[in-house]
Amino acid sequence: MLSAGRRALTGLARPRLCEAATPFAARSPAAIRRLLSALAILEQRDGKLNTGSLSAVTAAEKLGGSIHGFVAGSSIKGVAEEAAKVDRLEKVIAVENGAYDKGLPENYAPLLVENIKKGGYTHVIAGHTAFGKNLMPRVAALLDSQQISDITSIEDEKTFVRSIYAGNAVATVESSDDIKIITIRGTAFPAAEVAGGSAAIEDGVDPKADCPTEWISEDLAKSDRPDLATATKVVSGGRGLKSKEEFDKIMLPLADSLGAAVGASRAAVDSGYADNSLQVGQTGKVVAPQLYMAVGISGAIQHLAGMKDSKVIAAINKDADAPIFQVADVGLVGDLFEKVPELTEKLNKA
Ligand code: FAD
Repeated sequence: MLSAGRRALTGLARPRLCEAATPFAARSPAAIRRLLSALAILEQRDGKLNTGSLSAVTAAEKLGGSIHGFVAGSSIKGVAEEAAKVDRLEKVIAVENGAYDKGLPENYAPLLVENIKKGGYTHVIAGHTAFGKNLMPRVAALLDSQQISDITSIEDEKTFVRSIYAGNAVATVESSDDIKIITIRGTAFPAAEVAGGSAAIEDGVDPKADCPTEWISEDLAKSDRPDLATATKVVSGGRGLKSKEEFDKIMLPLADSLGAAVGASRAAVDSGYADNSLQVGQTGKVVAPQLYMAVGISGAIQHLAGMKDSKVIAAINKDADAPIFQVADVGLVGDLFEKVPELTEKLNKA
């Protein structure tokens, strides 16, 4: 599990960062600022800043050093100007080139590496999103660093905390790499607000590397409901729904009565009841809404890994011994085909 660049705190490797002998907390803010500089990778889609990616700024803030934001794509000026309003950013590095619009990692990784080298950053931070997961290991490989994945907390400039074994254990990892390439769990770091700032906008370097990959098209599932990853309420259905027809008939009105996003267990997705993009769990999305309602979901550890940090968990299951009740704040033992329509009707009348 451990390797050259990364080790458990009990390991033997020596951190290479200078001034390592002085405890982090004992250093003066000026010393920290001198030592540390973070680049927060900000995502954009169709010329709009993805504000969820501003979690990277919040994570970078924990380090105490300077923070720059990074954006790339066509018509990037508007995105950069929006990002520049984030209070904690000192500078936004922007690269205007349509080749980076879709965040293809084969294009984006060399671009990022050039800009990391130019800026001399000690930390590069992106969300643990589809984009970040695809991009950051390539960036790390190009820089001969170990990527530190899906962290939930920053102890100091070289020590990070992440969940392992589907969230059943927590590992503290220490990096001795000169440049730390990190992805963060969005639910662990609230997005920085787009307010109060006036960061400078600077053109980044564009290596215009020959790209072996070309964007052809995309087929996106469209929905008027809130986005699953950022919704404050989520209702998720499992295999207990029995079919796609029943999933839609039971879960969608419930979601609409609460203004919630719809999620699903992997068993429901694999059975074709719900789209793959709705999967919650270890191999799906990790969510932490104010309310998570699990309907006909047993509560396997792989599912819990994606939702157990929700503020309030409610579960409806006909099996009183279903493991989901062990994490639920509110539980209802009963037949979902009877109980959920009843609940939806009451919510609509309320
Ligand atoms: P089941 O376990 O079949 O549970 C169905 C539940 O519905 C039961 O508790 C039953 O009592 C209840 N039920 C049935 N009928 C009714 C009714 N009429 N009224 C009320 N309740 C009813 N799973 C995920 O969800 N997300 C992941 O990301 C994920 N990743 C995985 C990764 C790996 C490597 C592996 C090995 C597994 C992963 N899984 C994941 C699968 C996971 O182990 C479970 O198989 C899955 O979560 C089960 O889904 P479920 O609870 O919907 O189905």
